[in-house]
Amino acid sequence: MQTIRSIKKMQAAARQLAHKGKTIAVVPTMGYLHEGHLSLVRKAAKAADVVVVTIFANPTQFGPKEDFKKYPRDEKGDVKKIKAALKAATAASAFKQSIIFIPKVDDVYPDEFQTWVTVEKLTKKLEGAKRPEHFRGVTTIVTKLFNIIRPDVAFFGQKDFQQAVVLKQMVRDLGFPVKLVIAPIVREADGLAMSSRNAYFDEKGRWEAVCLYYALRSAKEMAKAGVTDCKKVEKEMRAVIKATCRTAKIDYIAFTDNNTLAPRKKIEQNTVCSLSVRVHSVRLIDNMKLG
Ligand code: AMP
Repeated sequence: MQTIRSIKKMQAAARQLAHKGKTIAVVPTMGYLHEGHLSLVRKAAKAADVVVVTIFANPTQFGPKEDFKKYPRDEKGDVKKIKAALKAATAASAFKQSIIFIPKVDDVYPDEFQTWVTVEKLTKKLEGAKRPEHFRGVTTIVTKLFNIIRPDVAFFGQKDFQQAVVLKQMVRDLGFPVKLVIAPIVREADGLAMSSRNAYFDEKGRWEAVCLYYALRSAKEMAKAGVTDCKKVEKEMRAVIKATCRTAKIDYIAFTDNNTLAPRKKIEQNTVCSLSVRVHSVRLIDNMKLG
């Protein structure tokens, strides 16, 4: 496994690989890896000759009052986890080579950086309504990574539901020659969606963080029982959240189309429920397909 820290070197390596006819799978991450990330790494190992995992806590996708400075980092631990995941995957996999790309902030955003990629409409809703600059940061860094690495296939998680929709739109609009694979959410044993931010919790917070999952689970049960009125489901979800975490602050609970993010009043095919809740001041997101 090779670690590359400069954009120039990564570009040169990617060029050489393309020249040799090797296919590349990329897994973009912000580091502090958990099983959710590693599930993507394992899938990538099956999909191409070369796996590139990127570790970059991207400052431009954090708002001025958000947690960029304290975002958890553990480069050594991350490298170990990637190595172990790929070692276990080798026997059954297509990949023959792996690269960890860890660019520096100044290299990605040099002085006078002024070019941004923006997906316009989809980023105004849900997360984008609460975090106005977030998706501009995401689409810009993903564009840069695609340009530097030139992957054939890129792996992202359903955990960041709106991000997946926005990136699909960007790839379509800009004609990136890359296939996007969106992998299912990996959860802790109690149902909490794995997230690097779960590291912020003390014991009580960690227990109560499961409220998002409990709410989604109750929504799914109602949908299965034939309830279609989203308002009714949302009311129950709010009650479940409050019963699990008295101090929770709900940013939003939304029912939308899986592909267009168009709001839905009734649960029907392709309806996804997504929500954001602050639990003990940690802002969590989660989602589940209901129809
Ligand atoms: P992050 O490091 O949080 O930017 O996440 C990197 C990638 O891992 C993104 O595509 C996320 O959607 C994905 N991811 C994060 N958490 C999970 C999870 N619990 N299950 C599956 N994928 C995840």
